[in-house]
Amino acid sequence: MESLRFTAIKNIGSNSVSYEVKSSEKVTTIFNENVFTLKTARHYLTDEAYKSLTASVKGGKKIDRAMGSNIANGLKAWAEEKGVTHFTHWFQPLTGLSAEKHDSFFTLKGDGTPIQEFEGAALIQQEPDASSFPSGGLRATFEARGYTAWDPSSPAFIMEIGEGRTLCIPTIFVSYTGESLDTKTPLLKACVALDKAAVDVCQYFDKNVTKVNATLGWEQEYFVIDAGLAKARPDLVLTGRTVFGHAPAKGQQLEDHYFGAIPERVYAYMRDLEGECYKLGIPLRTRHNEVAPAQFECAPIFEEMNLAVDHNTLLMDVMTRVAKRHNLVVLLHEKPFAGINGSGKHNNWSMSTDTGVNLLAPGKTPKTNLMFLTFFVNTIKAVHDYSELIRASIASASNDHRLGANEAPPAIISIFTGKFLTDVLNQIESRVGDSFDETDEAMLKLDIHKSIPELMLDNTDRNRTSPFAFTGNKFEFRAVGSSANCAGPMTVLNTVMAETLKKFKAEVDALIEKGDKKEVAILHVIQKYIVESKKVLFEGDGYSDEWEKEAEKRGLPNVKTTPVSLDAYAADKAKKLFEDNNIYNHLELEARHEIMLEEYIKKVQIEARVMGEIASTQILPAALKFQNTLIENIRGLKEAGLSEAAYHSQKKTLESISTHINAIASNVEAMIEARKKANDLSDTRAKAIAYCDEIKAKYFDVIRYHADKLELMIDDTLWPLPKYRELLFLR
Ligand code: ADP
Ligand code: MG
Repeated sequence: MESLRFTAIKNIGSNSVSYEVKSSEKVTTIFNENVFTLKTARHYLTDEAYKSLTASVKGGKKIDRAMGSNIANGLKAWAEEKGVTHFTHWFQPLTGLSAEKHDSFFTLKGDGTPIQEFEGAALIQQEPDASSFPSGGLRATFEARGYTAWDPSSPAFIMEIGEGRTLCIPTIFVSYTGESLDTKTPLLKACVALDKAAVDVCQYFDKNVTKVNATLGWEQEYFVIDAGLAKARPDLVLTGRTVFGHAPAKGQQLEDHYFGAIPERVYAYMRDLEGECYKLGIPLRTRHNEVAPAQFECAPIFEEMNLAVDHNTLLMDVMTRVAKRHNLVVLLHEKPFAGINGSGKHNNWSMSTDTGVNLLAPGKTPKTNLMFLTFFVNTIKAVHDYSELIRASIASASNDHRLGANEAPPAIISIFTGKFLTDVLNQIESRVGDSFDETDEAMLKLDIHKSIPELMLDNTDRNRTSPFAFTGNKFEFRAVGSSANCAGPMTVLNTVMAETLKKFKAEVDALIEKGDKKEVAILHVIQKYIVESKKVLFEGDGYSDEWEKEAEKRGLPNVKTTPVSLDAYAADKAKKLFEDNNIYNHLELEARHEIMLEEYIKKVQIEARVMGEIASTQILPAALKFQNTLIENIRGLKEAGLSEAAYHSQKKTLESISTHINAIASNVEAMIEARKKANDLSDTRAKAIAYCDEIKAKYFDVIRYHADKLELMIDDTLWPLPKYRELLFLR
């Protein structure tokens, strides 16, 4: 039988699906087509229901049951016109993905009459059987119930899968006793905490500010490969990354892929994907090739954070679905291919006021300059004070492959501000001991707003190696992994910022009380914060060894692996922070810590198993077969009376193959033993560390090394796994 690998290679040409863009599909005509926006709601709701919905979307007001039914009716009418038959509460449990449970509008009345209905109660709250979602022990197994509750701030949408159409209601997911079991609940709480703290500080500068929204613009990197080839790789199917595979003769060294022309088949996929995204209201704006072959990126226009996070989760789902139509597979894993760049998800983060001001955009007047500096310096202070937590927020088994791998930001959290702002900070700092007075108005008149955009346009000033970089009017958190749900890191960032702003306000108020003029008090605290958090600022090459040494000297944490970095979530400092800001109680935080450790263990465990299985059932048999061919060849040459010189090189190869076979077999066996030992550990953290240090670190690279060597020695026609050159270059 021909191997899956060769069948897949043969089929590639015919796997391409053409995608015709219909002329009617102008973005502006299809944008939000499948979203129940307020504008659409206006057509389907009574005045009263519309008012109530608007109040809850804009002001976070609760919707009562009676009004809920009213809104549900309108939603159903809209959805039915679009051919929808089912609805689902759409939520994001702690798997990081989205979850759905579809219910039909169809039901029977008491007398058996079939009707279509969607009750307010079903819109507002549902009770999916939650027993199989991770809960970190929050929900004892006998209490399987959790409930989902409508989040009106993210609009309902219709998901089209093939011919099926489902009305999706974005919801939070909490346990019966009220603990959050999802990523959205804490995110919403963190947005509220930041809103309140930021509004309080904005009041120093503008009394008209009553609301501050966190904003997020993510950039999603991903790989696209042929589905047939992907299916022939058990590692890709089960883990999303290749655990074996020798580097191809040509990798990314020619740098001919970055920003190059998008390959036709992928282009068709992207346009199809974009069409689906526009209908769902995801405002995609850019698409391009990334550095690695077969790697791409898309990014939307930034949005209010809760919506942006929902849109990214939805995007990852839609990407995968649309890829199927094109016989392609999207890899969202942070490191699908060794030796080739991995994928990240830059999180561009800022805050904007209801008066239309971006709080991280440098101001145009002395007063707005001071407001910018306030939020800018508070961000630096927040990241400095909670850098362990920021690091933990991006930790995952898959992101461990990327952080610090000399292509992605290191595991050391530092901030890049650019030369101009570094100078500004230095100027303020150098006045320690001096007191500020009215004349400091002069300093605030620095033409920050004019100089920064110019400087930021200059690419030499755009440090690509920093995990947290100021890019002119926002911070770009670059260490987030491509497969992550943005809610995790954004919840942490919003919370540490809220906490820092609260302290800032308390300190400024204390100085004002002592008689300082407001501006002078603010400058004093800014100066203090610059001094206190200076060590987190770094403008140099984040990939260099010197930086690791320098960071150590500065006392900056450099935690390279997930199990240890997650300790930050279990620390008293984190408990206090999250509790004080009403994000997580102790129980919720401990549960999350436990869930993240468990997820790590499972991910590494699956990889270890896949590795063992592929090695034993695919690689070794191929190697043995080739060995036999060589043996036969040598025997034949010997029988023909040829001297040793004639089969010298075959013999050497034979020996070398034997060495690799033995190394693989013995290491796979030892790895299984190590797994048994780790599995016996009852403490989750200890088990995660064992999986990291005793299994992954000790065996993965060794086994792979020998397998990849074999790949280069064995008859190509016998090799069962699609090779890197095929995965990366054939489409
Ligand atoms: P670059 O390409 O230089 O990284 P862009 O201007 O293209 O920068 O922005 C990258 C991402 O940052 C986009 O998703 C964009 O919408 C987002 N972004 C821009 N301004 C903000 C902001 N104020 N808050 C959050 N995200 C923003
Ligand atoms: Mg970017």
